[in-house]
Amino acid sequence: MAVNLGRKRVLVTGGAGFLGSHLCDRLLADDYEVLCIDNFYTGTRHNIRHLLGHPRFEMLRHDITFPLYVEVDEIYNFACPASPVHYQFDPVQTTKTNVHGAINALGLAKRLNAKIFQASTSEVYGDPVVHPQPESYCGNVNPVGFRSCYDEGKRCAETLFFDYYRQHQLRIKVARIFNTYGPRMHANDGRVVSNFVTQALRNEDITIYGDGGQTRSFCYVSDLIEACVALMATADTFTGPVNLGNPSETTVRILAETVVELCGSRSKLVYKTLPSDDPLRRCPDIALARKTLNWRPTVTLEQGLRATIDYFEELLGGRSPAR
Ligand code: NAD
Ligand code: UDP
Repeated sequence: MAVNLGRKRVLVTGGAGFLGSHLCDRLLADDYEVLCIDNFYTGTRHNIRHLLGHPRFEMLRHDITFPLYVEVDEIYNFACPASPVHYQFDPVQTTKTNVHGAINALGLAKRLNAKIFQASTSEVYGDPVVHPQPESYCGNVNPVGFRSCYDEGKRCAETLFFDYYRQHQLRIKVARIFNTYGPRMHANDGRVVSNFVTQALRNEDITIYGDGGQTRSFCYVSDLIEACVALMATADTFTGPVNLGNPSETTVRILAETVVELCGSRSKLVYKTLPSDDPLRRCPDIALARKTLNWRPTVTLEQGLRATIDYFEELLGGRSPAR
């Protein structure tokens, strides 16, 4: 337990990333001390630049695949590239980040008796044959495909969390996060929302993979962060796993059309090859989160996309004049 005049000190691994930086904001607003660690693999200083002078914020450059010796009361383990393009760039490192990273974060939590949160993923369900996906569904995951470094890495991390819980009585919170989007996604992130928005703002072709009939359920970042904080605050007896996401399902094609319309863009939709193992349908069953966290997403896709478009418009220096 850290000695800091009663104020809780929280570690956020991957704190310079998209979700991690919003979480740091939220924890600082809630009066915590925040220690952000990141190796800047996909995260940026830009995401946390507004926090660098904050008296309760500290930033440490560190790779979570190596052990970490700090003093904190709670840990949010968010370190891991989340975009398929980024996590497939160096798949061995992705597995190490998930597995060695979890071991190091859990070891730290055990030494400190700190409560620990795992940012797991809907990818643990793979290409699901049960729809929508409840937490009881064990998934349909290819162990040897291009997405396996992420999917199986996250599954192994969940295993480690539950073994530390059973074997060492660690206080764990496991969240299965579904597709989340919003400001501070990397412009070259490769994920669908950031790709479509940046393409539409530049009047470039919108790259739909496959026929665009595959579905995802998009959650706006502020809703997701609310749920994460609520999950961390649940009674020690509640471990999860719990699905966190927005159950409003949409096809990739409709997402593309909506983004083009909201941007007032002249972009055309073009169809590219569907990546292997790309899940055909994904939608969370959030009954458990509704009941346990008394939470539900409140931001509509249109509202969230407008805020995301505003962010990228500023980042890219405006829309293409050729509109
Ligand atoms: P992101 O890529 O923006 O953030 C990941 C952060 O982790 C980056 O700042 C990166 O530099 C850092 N990182 C990567 N490897 C590291 C390492 N070895 N050591 C230290 N830092 C490292 O992605 P995100 O969308 O913010 O995702 C954050 C977490 O949430 C990830 O664990 C991801 O798997 C999980 N998640 C996100 C989504 C989503 O839709 N955004 C969905 C499911 C799960
Ligand atoms: N996708 C697409 N065009 C893009 C990027 C992604 O059609 O430029 C599709 C991708 O094939 C997938 C969906 O959008 O079916 C969501 O992809 P993303 O990479 O955002 O996340 P995933 O849910 O696949 O991890």
